[in-house]
Amino acid sequence: MDETTDKKIITIILPCYNEEKNISILYRELERVISHFRKYDWELLFINDGSSDLTINEIVKLQIKDENIKYIDLSRNFGKEAAMLAGLDHSIGDAVLIMDADLQHPVDVIPEMIKYWEEGYDDIYGKRLYRGKESWLRRLLTRIFYKILSNTSKIEILPDVGDFRLLDRKCVDALKEMRETERYTKGLYCWIGFKKKEILIRQGERRAGKTAWNLRALFKLALNGITSFSSAPLQLMFTIGILFSFLAFCYLLFILFRTVIYGEPVRGFPTLVILILFLGGVQILCFGVLGLYLSRIFNETKKRPPYIIREKS
Ligand code: UDP
Ligand code: MG
Repeated sequence: MDETTDKKIITIILPCYNEEKNISILYRELERVISHFRKYDWELLFINDGSSDLTINEIVKLQIKDENIKYIDLSRNFGKEAAMLAGLDHSIGDAVLIMDADLQHPVDVIPEMIKYWEEGYDDIYGKRLYRGKESWLRRLLTRIFYKILSNTSKIEILPDVGDFRLLDRKCVDALKEMRETERYTKGLYCWIGFKKKEILIRQGERRAGKTAWNLRALFKLALNGITSFSSAPLQLMFTIGILFSFLAFCYLLFILFRTVIYGEPVRGFPTLVILILFLGGVQILCFGVLGLYLSRIFNETKKRPPYIIREKS
């Protein structure tokens, strides 16, 4: 790449985890699009997120042929969020495009994204019209999650919007400033603001390999999203505390009154058991919520780097 020209550069960040079968197809598709945009210089930045297959070999093979290809090989699997951050940190583009390596994100909308960028938009993102083949359970849980998130956090986090987006350098620099270890990038995009533009996309099926997200990973991501963008659960605990104290106080008056006026003998074993179990449950739940936030604080205070690089080109 000739650094002396004043051509603008567009970087494409491609996080890859076990995508050996997709890399070369993806490259061919991207080449096809890029060939129409020779007025820009391109940087294809592959992040190998500790794949256990031959993904890195595929990338290196391409890199030998094409000098616009760069790669970062992480020392192990750090997760997509960290891989994307590694990409943002090392991208040189005036605009940065983030997309999945499994060809689920249609490359055909890239020209449209670039058009909006040229018109002055800073953050152009794809919104899924069709979520691809997903189980009803995943779809339902996703819906519930976004509902909770949008009702409890102060900023609006958009559902059905993935990581397929073109960001201006301004946004990239802003995202790089945020060094939290447990990242929830989808929330961060909304948090930074800037001029946004939505594009509707038809998300395809994964071309080869299988998704790295199981329900457990998604649940973890969801908890991360909520605990990093909202303190509503903590406030809810406080409200529950007040409510129960109030109810307990009323019940106390009632019992006292009954004992004094009617002199009732001691009874009510079932009531006791139910109350103890129920309140015990609520207490453990509240401790759990506290624990979630505490673990976030714990992880942040360690200030570990979000990823480690084994090799980069
Ligand atoms: N990915 C990654 N690290 C991971 C998991 C996934 O870099 O630990 C990449 C993966 O290679 C793909 C993208 O993130 O390019 C999206 O992953 P996937 O297709 O598994 O997620 P889904 O499309 O099912 O949400
Ligand atoms: Mg995918």
